[in-house]
Amino acid sequence: MRALIVEDDPLLMDSLNRAMRAAGYATDQAMDGETALGLLRNGGFDLVLLDLGLPRLDGLQVLKRAREHGCRVPVLILTARDGVEDRVKGLDLGADDYLVKPFSLAELEARARALLRRGQTAPPLLACGALTYDTVGRRATLDGQSLELSLREVSVLEALLFRQGKVVSKEQLIETLCGYGEELSANAIEVYMHRLRKKLEPGGVTIRTLRGLGYLMDKV
Ligand code: CA
Repeated sequence: MRALIVEDDPLLMDSLNRAMRAAGYATDQAMDGETALGLLRNGGFDLVLLDLGLPRLDGLQVLKRAREHGCRVPVLILTARDGVEDRVKGLDLGADDYLVKPFSLAELEARARALLRRGQTAPPLLACGALTYDTVGRRATLDGQSLELSLREVSVLEALLFRQGKVVSKEQLIETLCGYGEELSANAIEVYMHRLRKKLEPGGVTIRTLRGLGYLMDKV
């Protein structure tokens, strides 16, 4: 899952970023409206946290233009303003929900989860042989037994399951796992693969390596 965080207050940005990362999202950040709009037009986000008071381009304008451009990603407005006017405007322009600052990070996470559930286009449960994966709760089971996975391992598993039967390249995996400006080496991906394989093998689920192409999840 990839979230775009749009917020011009560096301290708030930092804590939002940490909270979203801890909740298992890869994050991109924009500290002004124009940057946010540019990133949104490129697409690839599952969720947007959008502050309204922004330099260069107001949050409402970002939302309006992104929606006009056909961007359908769920948007959660973050606003310090206590007037209902902005919130109503935001919802009219196509925001999905809003949070009034200050809010607790737990509340943010809960709202984000609810939005993702609502906008779920993929089936909530994915399966590959004995492996079942709950895309909302982000939990995997193998032969009915719950699997202990790190957040990174979950992200890799997700990437492979969402494209089941197709080859997923290392570059695609790095893209899925990394936030903007963050580095992740090809070696790190191999480490996650190795760990995942060991956990999936007992259930007959394999991750094949296709040299020079990428990885493919399959059942024996
Ligand atoms: Ca602001």
